[in-house]
Amino acid sequence: MEKNRKKGISTRAIHAGERPDPETGASSPNLVMSSTFAVKAGAGFSVDGMDEDSPYFYTRWRNPTVKQLEEKLCSLEGADSCVVFASGMAAITSLFLYHLSSGDHLVISDVAYAAAAEISHDLLPRLGIEVTRVDTSEPEQVREAINSRTKLIYIETPCNPIMRLTDIGAVAEIAREAGVKLAADNTFSTPVGTRPLELGVDYVVHSLTKYICGHGDAIGGALLGPASEIAGLRKSIAIRTGGVISPFNAWLIMRGMATLPIRMAAHQKGALAVARALEAHPKVTAVMYPGLESHPQHKLAVRQMENFSGILTFQVGDGPRTAQVFAEGLEVIHYAVSLGHHRSLIYYLPTDEMLTTSFRLEGAQRESYRAFSGDGIFRLSVGIEDAADLIEDLERALAQV
Ligand SMILES: *Cc1c(COP(=O)(O)O)cnc(C)c1O
Repeated sequence: MEKNRKKGISTRAIHAGERPDPETGASSPNLVMSSTFAVKAGAGFSVDGMDEDSPYFYTRWRNPTVKQLEEKLCSLEGADSCVVFASGMAAITSLFLYHLSSGDHLVISDVAYAAAAEISHDLLPRLGIEVTRVDTSEPEQVREAINSRTKLIYIETPCNPIMRLTDIGAVAEIAREAGVKLAADNTFSTPVGTRPLELGVDYVVHSLTKYICGHGDAIGGALLGPASEIAGLRKSIAIRTGGVISPFNAWLIMRGMATLPIRMAAHQKGALAVARALEAHPKVTAVMYPGLESHPQHKLAVRQMENFSGILTFQVGDGPRTAQVFAEGLEVIHYAVSLGHHRSLIYYLPTDEMLTTSFRLEGAQRESYRAFSGDGIFRLSVGIEDAADLIEDLERALAQV
């Protein structure tokens, strides 16, 4: 009984999916780079014959190192099953291709990761899939958008880049009543902060590139959900369309993931210190961080996030000029895209440009975006350096503007 007690998240981050190698006793996971595996005659040639217990055959189908990462992800998210991909976008695209056919309807957050937003404008409509984009921070808008052809609802919380939150439980209730599948991108919060499956979603999506890898040296993605659906998705989409991860990247991500809980604690601590320093700075006009009392959805953040993560945005009087100064003058923080690395990263996102390129928003949706982003935001992914050094770096650069 005691032996079967679910271990704590830090223990599972280290041990889940791993065990000493039965042949050599090697304590750390082996890296199996082999693209093919010696099999018995008559093993078959089509993925149709594969099931979860089939022996390894070809690495696009399944690979032991990738499988270890999938097991670790399942343990942390509390999922039955997981399939890992070459990138977050490969995971998202595969989810869409699995659930949506010509004539079907998708309801998606009107602000989501740029490439997810962009395929909802171009690729999906071209395949005959109807898309409705709504402000999912207002769950009633999701309810109103659902029709008889709706097959999937897609949310992201906090959403990239504006740090607006969606009440996962409220949207899950609406999805359940309508009999529609719900997917949540949990990249920003990570399973340390939020476990959307426990709140009623059907699928969790991750860009493993970000916090889960944590070190900015491997791109990957994952989709987690019910075993039967993930098995179907693996077979019909992942293996056939081939957006699979390199075992080497899976191994790097697994190595990074072992320290996810302590890194997230450090990210949160640093982000809160930097957010408070920025809030007090005379040149900073607004700061958005779910862990600050001033975030318009702070109460929801407290309810839904056990860790507020390390990403914040802030606004200044002259964004474009400040971006120039940051790109040239910051010493510790890199002026670069991406997030969730141990290293701090900052990037400027001008509102008018985002509204016309990635998001294409009008009317009330435009206003909701602007309420969180003003004329433009600096998205700062606070790394796990000493917060005092990050604050000093920002203050020294801001003094030059
Ligand atoms: C980066 C990111 C993605 C895309 O992941 P890639 O690994 O770059 O393909 C998806 N969602 C969110 C929230 C992201 O930040």
